[in-house]
Amino acid sequence: MNKKTVRDLTDAQLRGKRALVRVDFNVPMNESMQVGDDTRIRAALPTIEYLLERGACVILLSHLGRPKGKPNPKYSLEPVARHLATLTKTRVDFVETTDSDEASRAAKELAAGEILVLENTRFLGGEETNDERLSRALACLGDVFVNDAFGAAHRAHASTEGIARHLRPAVAGLLMEKELEYLGAALASPKRPFISILGGAKISGKIDVIEQLLPGVDRLLIGGAMACTFFRAMGLNTGKSLVEEDRVEMAADLLARAGDKLVLPIDAVVASSLNDPMAAKNVAREEITDDQAMFDIGRKSSELFSGQIATAKTVIWNGPMGVFETPPFDQATRAVAEAMANATDTGAITIVGGGDSAAAVAQLGLESRMSHVSTGGGASLEFLEGKELPGVAALEGRSE
Ligand code: ADP
Ligand code: MG
Repeated sequence: MNKKTVRDLTDAQLRGKRALVRVDFNVPMNESMQVGDDTRIRAALPTIEYLLERGACVILLSHLGRPKGKPNPKYSLEPVARHLATLTKTRVDFVETTDSDEASRAAKELAAGEILVLENTRFLGGEETNDERLSRALACLGDVFVNDAFGAAHRAHASTEGIARHLRPAVAGLLMEKELEYLGAALASPKRPFISILGGAKISGKIDVIEQLLPGVDRLLIGGAMACTFFRAMGLNTGKSLVEEDRVEMAADLLARAGDKLVLPIDAVVASSLNDPMAAKNVAREEITDDQAMFDIGRKSSELFSGQIATAKTVIWNGPMGVFETPPFDQATRAVAEAMANATDTGAITIVGGGDSAAAVAQLGLESRMSHVSTGGGASLEFLEGKELPGVAALEGRSE
């Protein structure tokens, strides 16, 4: 990686110092205002522990939800701070402001080995506008800046990009490093065969990913509703399936250019509506009728995709194969996840990106059997599109 990380910081840069850490604690909350899924909190622990063990105190900044620049108790980080305390077994202070005398006093009074969580950065009007004054004020809270929020790195906000311009050292955390290394290595120097599987609802949101991946992959497997737009381009009847009419031409162009790199489903699981799962049928892709919609790729397609995955040395997956939230339309998503888990066992690098795909893998209990499940939905997509992530770009380079 061409950016400095916490491991490049010297003892003197950490002992007795205030480490200001941008984490991604944007976690789902349940009805009783407790943390619903703590994956992202646990993912930040290695960095927090690394800093504490070296004699720093840790001040944590994060956003949660979309409070649109105004305080909103629904999006308070207080329950997250309490949850963090149960995971670290260390004292965790919480201050219900972020850009205030109260917050800077709390940051100054923090002792080595202690953790302070400040309130949601998106309660501040200047966060999403990357306000200069706010960036400077936040930078004053710490002696070093660590950005570990991969999931927020595609946004140039005050707490991600802004602070890094005003506080040095500014380095990547261990999670950020891991995310960039897995995704970066897979794109730059993949072990072959390199296979990518794309799915999800819309082709429009993923066209840049397809264009970016296509030259480098050995095979690109397409599932999800996205496949229906390709079916239409092939002249097949897609019935009531989700098709993006304005992308049919583009799909036809891709089919013409991609040759046998592009692998489409050969059959489909169809029903008249999602409310009628009992009537689900497996049909060949030529047999979808006007009153049916494809809600999952079919059994033979699952086998075809799983067979391809079994031969791969690098696999990147983004986007569920079907409406996995509604059984039985979860079968192909399960099959792909299981094929990837088995591929990991035989030495392949397997990477899952995208919020819904990561949720599907977690739901199946297969997280630990993937080489890497990205914590950043939008950020991992933008990375795969080949875009520079502003939160990363602002960090110190290796040669600085
Ligand atoms: P990710 O978050 O992993 O990037 P997306 O957001 O692109 O994935 O897509 C996930 C959504 O796509 C899911 O809600 C799923 O129900 C939907 N989806 C997948 N296949 C189909 C289909 N055949 N018809 C309608 N929706 C689908
Ligand atoms: Mg999604």
